[in-house]
Amino acid sequence: MALRILIAGGGVAGLAVARALRARCPLSAADITVWQPHRPVDGWWGGMTLTPSACRVLDAALGVWPAVSADDASVAIDAFVTTDAAGDELLRLAPAAAPDYAPYGYPMISVERAALIAALADSAAPAPEDRALASVAHVPGAGRTVVATDADGGADDFDLVIAADGIHSVLAPNDDAPLLDLGLKTVRGVSDSVAAAEAVTAMGGATLALGRGVSWFARVLPGGRSQWAVTFHSPEDASFPDGERGLARVAALAADAGLLASDSLAVAASLDGTPSDVLRIHQLRDRDPAAVGSYLVSGDDGEVLGARIGDAAHPMSPFSGAGAVAALEDAAVLAHTVADAAAGKIDIAHALRAYNALRFEAGTAMVLRGRTATTTSHTRGAFTGFLRNKFLGFTGSMLERAQAANKANHVIAEHMYDTASLDYDAAYEATASPPADP
Ligand SMILES: Cc1cc2nc3c(=O)[nH]c(=O)nc-3n(C[C@H](O)[C@H](O)[C@H](O)COP(=O)(O)OP(=O)(O)OC[C@H]3O[C@@H](n4cnc5c(N)ncnc54)[C@H](O)[C@@H]3O)c2cc1C
Repeated sequence: MALRILIAGGGVAGLAVARALRARCPLSAADITVWQPHRPVDGWWGGMTLTPSACRVLDAALGVWPAVSADDASVAIDAFVTTDAAGDELLRLAPAAAPDYAPYGYPMISVERAALIAALADSAAPAPEDRALASVAHVPGAGRTVVATDADGGADDFDLVIAADGIHSVLAPNDDAPLLDLGLKTVRGVSDSVAAAEAVTAMGGATLALGRGVSWFARVLPGGRSQWAVTFHSPEDASFPDGERGLARVAALAADAGLLASDSLAVAASLDGTPSDVLRIHQLRDRDPAAVGSYLVSGDDGEVLGARIGDAAHPMSPFSGAGAVAALEDAAVLAHTVADAAAGKIDIAHALRAYNALRFEAGTAMVLRGRTATTTSHTRGAFTGFLRNKFLGFTGSMLERAQAANKANHVIAEHMYDTASLDYDAAYEATASPPADP
């Protein structure tokens, strides 16, 4: 009988794992259902930067590279450049030359979120019928059966659940591992200014400028546009105005941080070219990986019934630059292990534990890296800012080396795209914490 799999959430992670599973499992082996409370493309807006490893997942594991790399969907990034408030370069990451990225053989890209979602949704999308648009409310589980209840009170049985329902996942631990407020807000906008897009392109395609306690991020988008984000200290309960008032407040923050003076950053031109009705405001949050402990979903009786992927597993600051990257990598690895279970090569519990063992270390590294990057990028003291700028090249290369030393991630990267069954013993050898009883 086919393995009945519920995927809760149709964002990047959910659509990617649905697509990867459908590519790996014959229809007779897996019956895949995606529950998503609204059409995922609605409300998706702006862009995201994807690393060469994520591009390789999009190509080799998901088959959507032609759509994602099309000119109207994405732009290749030559370099991600960090500067001081005056636009003077402090650190340059050129993916083609970076030891961590070059071996993948793909560029770093800035992709339209809507184009990425549309490419992933093509054929993997939930049919636009009522049930497919349901939202998972509770997955208590009993024995080896998952009973998922949707918001309308309907219930279904599944053999396993994949929680891809984002940062506020109903299947994530709450009391033991609450979401943590990082004390900063990000306001984002998309600018139609050609001058701004040209300035960002001249910098390399993506840039982060560090003012005192305030940062300015910009990346080029297809169609001669660019996206910007201003991040500043603000507790969770502090409100921020929308529309024209919000845009004026952003300009004031940038001015106070000395970010308006630089021609190379083109901050004023970016803001001038931004329609005020499309501002997005986010509070930066993550979850402590040590408190999370695992990406497994267990039933009331402790039985392993599923796994969390993407933001449902490891919400992280956008300063990791890796939330969607991690979601795509999770999807590829989980599809691999679950496909082995669907084919009868291993049992379901082993497949889920294997995924957890293979991904937890990489997810943890990305969350912690995001936290460190957020804190160091927004230091308010003049002296600490001076020291940070002075040693950024050194700390930047330390971070790169730490990432490169993430041996497990690289072993998994090698396995992610194979069509053969995973050599579990070899893969576990590279992880810090192999599964206790696979
Ligand atoms: C400002 C900002 C900039 C970013 N930039 C980058 C970047 O440049 N590069 C990068 O890699 N990452 C970036 N990220 C992170 C990235 O956007 C996320 O990590 C990624 O979108 C996570 O995908 P996901 O599918 O796990 O979650 P989501 O995209 O949040 O999808 C979750 C889905 O689950 C659905 N859902 C919610 N509750 C339920 C329920 N109960 N039942 C069923 N479905 C449910 C939601 O409607 C949603 O469609 C950025 C994030 C922010 C905030």
